[in-house]
Amino acid sequence: MAYLALYRRFRPTDFKSVIGQDTIVKTLTNQIIQDKIGHAYLFCGARGTGKTSLAKIFARAVNCTSPIDGSPCGKCDACKMLADPSNVDIIEMDAASNNKVENVREIRENVQYPPVGVRYKVYVIDEVHMLTTEAFNALLKTLEEPPKHAIFILATTEPHKLPATILSRCMRFDFKLISLQEITALIKSVYDEIGKAYEEEAVKLIAKSGEGSVRDALSVADLCVSVGDKLTYNDVLAVLGATDLNKIDGLVKSMFLGETGKVLGYSDELCSLGKSVGLLSKDVVNHLRDLAIIKTCKNAKDILALPDDRFVVMSELANLADEHRILRSIEIISEIENQLRYSTQPRAVLETALIKASMPEIDYNIDALLARIKTLEEEINSLKSGVIGQKTVEKVVERVVEKVVEVPAQKVTEPVKEEPVMEKDPKELSLVPPPEDEEFIPPVVQKAKEPKNIATAVSNTITVDGKRCWGGIVRRLRTTPNKTILWVACQEMTASVEGSTLTIYASAENEKKLLLQNDNFETLLSIAKGFGIENIKVEIRSGSVSQEDPIEKAKAFFGDTLKVEK
Ligand SMILES: [Zn+2]
Repeated sequence: MAYLALYRRFRPTDFKSVIGQDTIVKTLTNQIIQDKIGHAYLFCGARGTGKTSLAKIFARAVNCTSPIDGSPCGKCDACKMLADPSNVDIIEMDAASNNKVENVREIRENVQYPPVGVRYKVYVIDEVHMLTTEAFNALLKTLEEPPKHAIFILATTEPHKLPATILSRCMRFDFKLISLQEITALIKSVYDEIGKAYEEEAVKLIAKSGEGSVRDALSVADLCVSVGDKLTYNDVLAVLGATDLNKIDGLVKSMFLGETGKVLGYSDELCSLGKSVGLLSKDVVNHLRDLAIIKTCKNAKDILALPDDRFVVMSELANLADEHRILRSIEIISEIENQLRYSTQPRAVLETALIKASMPEIDYNIDALLARIKTLEEEINSLKSGVIGQKTVEKVVERVVEKVVEVPAQKVTEPVKEEPVMEKDPKELSLVPPPEDEEFIPPVVQKAKEPKNIATAVSNTITVDGKRCWGGIVRRLRTTPNKTILWVACQEMTASVEGSTLTIYASAENEKKLLLQNDNFETLLSIAKGFGIENIKVEIRSGSVSQEDPIEKAKAFFGDTLKVEK
């Protein structure tokens, strides 16, 4: 016997085995059970969603003498008679090849004769939108006054092409696309029945390729039957003629990294494999779409149904760009299809689009700008928090290197006395508002040496941050009443900031005590909060040598005018 294609071999023969059209099946079976059968039906929907199959089942069911739950029994005389393809009571016509008025006239003449041995004569007209205007008018006459024994089932993928006069005379059913899960289950059951071994992901990929059409999916499944012992994901990819995934991965990766030269290299390689620009851009868009799903959906793994190793690769790719960048790239590449219609140079169109997608800095689209702002924000945030990623450090080091100042861990023996205000009466000091723009100069400032490696640069950058903050606190301290001693002592100290914690390095135990003494600590903390600091730690800097008492030191500065706080 000749080989029967899977989609024909596994075509449903009763309502129960129809998948994905529950509402329609329920309405039709109810009509049969209640014997309220109409004379004209319109089945609309994409190809492979079961229109013709359901029409055939319905044609047999209306004639079956003992239907089971509305489905044809398959055993009665009517069922047996109609199972024979040469029967004359179910008449199928393909309007695509029989679209002339003569074809419809023939139907009009024949419809007058009653069916042979069954109750209804059923006309199934496929692709009915292909009929000419004259043919439609001829059909309309028949639909207006059909003989009692006639049922018309019109099937179409494009109901909007039908005249309103026809639409208004039909009971319309809209077939929806079949879900991925339903098609996957169907292919599995088919493979199980014919004894074909398969990988889960392979079947899911076949189902996905059907894009909602059972017939398309089963045709691919048919092609895969003879491939290998156990069907794998890669086998299906090969059958589908999908572009080499590694190359597409490489292309998208280089695109996100802005390596325009590499992107063009990949596109050249893919085109030279014989892939048309249209198909290639479709593959890239599908790839980007998967990345967008990974980026935005928590259950991306279930939606995409990719094998584990593939999903890991895709997730890594998705991490290279933010969602704005991915969506913008999809937009740019999808545009290729439109432009191809008006272009005689498809390669140029492809390459221009790829360059545009690789260089968001030349793109003034809002998504591209958002992507750039987001990158900048991330850089700023990591700088603020002092936690800097390796990549950002590399970028930032060049910019800040001259400004980095080095703070020696050792206490320097000769403090620079520079503040002229020190000559003034300390009582006056508290009345002097701090000059806004005056930069606090730490006791010792040395010009930075070239950082030896990235790690040095990081620690220096954090210290600069801490130094600015600490300088501000000390300046504020100078104008705080009754905190002169604290101010004098703090001038000698350094500090660093990590997150929202300020660490003050005292030179010796007595300095640490002074900081923690009475309300000194509260004063420091309340000033520091103004700089976004939540906690203060006091540590003694290792290698410190100073044993000077800060109170004695302050007295030395200010003489007897200084009141020592208790
Ligand atoms: Zn029957």
